[in-house]
Amino acid sequence: MSVYNRSSRYERILRKKKKILRRRRRLSAAVMASAAMLAGMFFFIQSSISGEKGNIGGEKNADAALSGAGAAVDSNDAGTADSGEWNLILVNPWHEIPEDYEVELTELKNGQAVDSRCYPELQQMMDDCRADGLNPVICASYRTMEKQQALFNDKKRRVIREGCPASSADEEAAKTVARPGTSEHQLGLALDIVDLDYQQLDTRQEETPVQKWLMENSWKYGFILRYPTDKSNITGIIYEPWHYRYVGKEAAKVIHEKGICLEEYLENDPEES
Ligand SMILES: [Zn+2]
Repeated sequence: MSVYNRSSRYERILRKKKKILRRRRRLSAAVMASAAMLAGMFFFIQSSISGEKGNIGGEKNADAALSGAGAAVDSNDAGTADSGEWNLILVNPWHEIPEDYEVELTELKNGQAVDSRCYPELQQMMDDCRADGLNPVICASYRTMEKQQALFNDKKRRVIREGCPASSADEEAAKTVARPGTSEHQLGLALDIVDLDYQQLDTRQEETPVQKWLMENSWKYGFILRYPTDKSNITGIIYEPWHYRYVGKEAAKVIHEKGICLEEYLENDPEES
């Protein structure tokens, strides 16, 4: 499969991106501290006004909250998100998340958390979706390596219970749950979003009003439907009409307009040509 041939190229891109990210992190450390304070104040005021309450059950407006400690919006990066590289980091079955990957998280009201740099656009997307009368629910977001490992182990146990021989349980589980280290959720840039009225993670999710809205509009906020039905052979992941990935507005626009996936977009990365 052509994916394998691309791998060294991706690794080069990845290395370059990591370097840029590290440099930018150093530069923006001071800005981040003050931005965190400002953002914390802003969202405290905002949530006081709207009177929203945190919950886990997935009620409306459940995802908007900054936790005090550790929450930050990197305003330095926010303005350059489209040209930045952190948003294009590739994690898939052939590209593990870098071991030293660090992420600054913003906690959502329902207990979920995302990379702080994509938080403002995520919140805007959720607000606009709700303004159109819909009820999106974020049911998965950032995961630690331990969490991904636990999910994978659970899946393995389940497939064995369902009759799969232990020797091939690993492979079978990996068809639906990413192996630890290869899940985009570990980046903090991926979200599973479902409709309040239909919360099953199956292909029928695509028929819900929330998914229809997201598929039409998410790119405007820098998010893409990461695993389209016709790209499974490239992404290595089955069709998931609920998994959205932040890539920044510029990339999302191109990916949406051309009907390509992230792997295909990176292959044509202008930076590389
Ligand atoms: Zn997902």
